[in-house]
Amino acid sequence: MPTKAKATTGQLIRGFEPYKETKGEEYMSEAMRAHFTSILNKWKLELMQEVDRTVHHMQDEAANFPDPADRASQEEEFSLELRARDRERKLIKKIDETLQLIEDEDYGWCDSCGVEIGIRRLEARPTATLCIDCKTLAEIKEKQVGS
Ligand SMILES: [Zn+2]
Repeated sequence: MPTKAKATTGQLIRGFEPYKETKGEEYMSEAMRAHFTSILNKWKLELMQEVDRTVHHMQDEAANFPDPADRASQEEEFSLELRARDRERKLIKKIDETLQLIEDEDYGWCDSCGVEIGIRRLEARPTATLCIDCKTLAEIKEKQVGS
């Protein structure tokens, strides 16, 4: 029997093995939900460590520039960092919402049309709430509104 092709898609999140479905396994079985819970928890931890590092970095450096000009450029740098951290915090919130979905056994189906989002897509984007078709459509609409 030929072995399945290995999934070699680029992964956002480090350190997890792509899920191997057993034959006839039900979509979003308990094992699958556990798989995504673990991915999301790891991801969240990485983000939280990232946020922590920045805060400490800024606390350490804040006192080091008595010169106002230095301080100004430093503040600019900080505000860029803070914006990045803000995105991370939003992502953490999104991850928490996703973990709740898993707990409610509501995870993995498209919010818009109800089809299975699919394991490989969810591994690449664990917080996805739309199937690839609906997502593509939503992005097209967004672009039209934005232009
Ligand atoms: Zn859909």
